[in-house]
Amino acid sequence: MDCIFCKIILREIPAKILSESSNSISFLDAFPLAKGHVLVIPKNHHQKIQDMSKEENADLFSLVHQMISKVDSLYGSTLLAVHNGKDAGQEVPHVHVHLVPRRNDDSAGAIHNMFNSSLKLSESDIEELYDKLKI
Ligand code: AMP
Ligand code: ZN
Repeated sequence: MDCIFCKIILREIPAKILSESSNSISFLDAFPLAKGHVLVIPKNHHQKIQDMSKEENADLFSLVHQMISKVDSLYGSTLLAVHNGKDAGQEVPHVHVHLVPRRNDDSAGAIHNMFNSSLKLSESDIEELYDKLKI
């Protein structure tokens, strides 16, 4: 498997590994968006969150929970992000949660700034989406 994150897990390429649980590890992002940008990943190779088992998912987010207080202590606020699929911006096709420390002067703004405008949905659009998405 030619996956850089699998290679980090196998210690085939170097990384600043910060913590490890039975199914997940965290390490410093090599091209950080901010000081303290951390990635948390499952040890098993999966591209998307929904490809993981519930146990792997629980283990991953348990490590996120452990790391978030550390990362958050740097500046007091943190962005959590998952690019779940190529069109969502995922470049490395191995699930990873970004923990990016945020500051009020970092100019990155809120998630709404990523999109040009907010959508206006009709009542029927909303009903259709509701029927498709409700569990
Ligand atoms: P994404 O765009 O969500 O797929 O993010 C992939 C992340 O992996 C980016 O933030 C990269 O900076 C980071 N990255 C790529 N290669 C490495 C590496 N060898 N070690 C640590 N982080 C990496
Ligand atoms: Zn992988």
